[in-house]
Amino acid sequence: MVQVPRSDFAEPRYSHQIHSLSAWQLKIDLRLVVSAFLLGAVIDQSFFADCDLLKSRGARQQELHERAASIALENFGRKVFIRGVIEVSNHCRENCVYCGMRRDNRKLDRYRARLDQMADLLVHHRPASVTDINIQAGEDPVIVREVVSPLIRILRRETPLGISVCLGTLNPALYRELQEAGASIYILKFEIADESDYARMKAPGTFAERIEHIHLLANSGWRVSSGFIAGLPGQSDDSLLKNFTLSRALPLDGCSVSPFIPGDDTPLSRKPAADLDLTLNCMAALRLMRPDWVIPSVSALNLTGPHGGYRRGLRTGANLVTINLTPPALRSDYVLYKRDRFIMTEQRILSAIDAEKLIPSKQGLTDYYRSNQPADPTRPSAPAATVPV
Ligand code: SF4
Repeated sequence: MVQVPRSDFAEPRYSHQIHSLSAWQLKIDLRLVVSAFLLGAVIDQSFFADCDLLKSRGARQQELHERAASIALENFGRKVFIRGVIEVSNHCRENCVYCGMRRDNRKLDRYRARLDQMADLLVHHRPASVTDINIQAGEDPVIVREVVSPLIRILRRETPLGISVCLGTLNPALYRELQEAGASIYILKFEIADESDYARMKAPGTFAERIEHIHLLANSGWRVSSGFIAGLPGQSDDSLLKNFTLSRALPLDGCSVSPFIPGDDTPLSRKPAADLDLTLNCMAALRLMRPDWVIPSVSALNLTGPHGGYRRGLRTGANLVTINLTPPALRSDYVLYKRDRFIMTEQRILSAIDAEKLIPSKQGLTDYYRSNQPADPTRPSAPAATVPV
């Protein structure tokens, strides 16, 4: 466990630091206007979901999923990216109503992983099929400085792995530090596109800040993936559709759909989980809207559909899967993975890929992005790594 003063964890949020960068921000705003214009010319975004389609069942749903799978096949072949994920901290300064890691949850044992343990695991004991690593944590700037940045440097020096991070909304200095260490993909989910639902669910920071940071990351050389939650309690048709409108307008390279799962010891613990079919239909609709995006089949699909929800995700045009590499001793405290069927091991992943007649991609996500320019030509490419790959 890394020992750090509590005051360090409770450092001020980012917004004042962003607003002091007025010249940079102005440049970004101008870029956004130009990019919105050019983007329309580059991607055919003529497909847009409607609620009837998202709620479809039977033959119409089958056709939707088949169209999505066939578009993924056209764009990516049978290849599925395989990424390992490690959860390095379940501390979080946020208080999202739907998440068990929220700061008000006093029943959760909190941990921060040790750098040497994580480095040994990933350098010497990772599964052979993994081409990329996603380093994930609650919103915990301490772990970023103490463990994540040095870990990325070690991985870039010792392995050919591509590096993604999913660390919440940080400040520009920390984003730069991570990028200079060698990470190139930032996963920042907008979670909820409806602004009033966002506030009601106490989603991270404010809606405006979250969106501002997605733009900031994309315009400073990161490849950005985002995501939203389907089936949140109280989610109206209109608010579900707003997720598509927003994701389409953002400078993204990928997007996920996570089914709402009621977390233990949260205000929503007694609410029903999201409907699996709705979640899968949203994934298929995303694929039709953006054939070029990397779309994951998230392991939470197995909780809403214990008999193959995850495999059904691969049949809706998903092209990324994740193997959980968090050591079992820490995993039990990382709330998303308390139930055994949630744990996606290499064996389960490879069996699912094989059963769907797909194949593991030997090319990593980072390499894939490097060889495919962003759809938006005004976005900068990732800067060169500061350490050899
Ligand atoms: S969803 Fe993310 S930001 Fe919100 S409480 Fe959970 S870990 Fe923290």
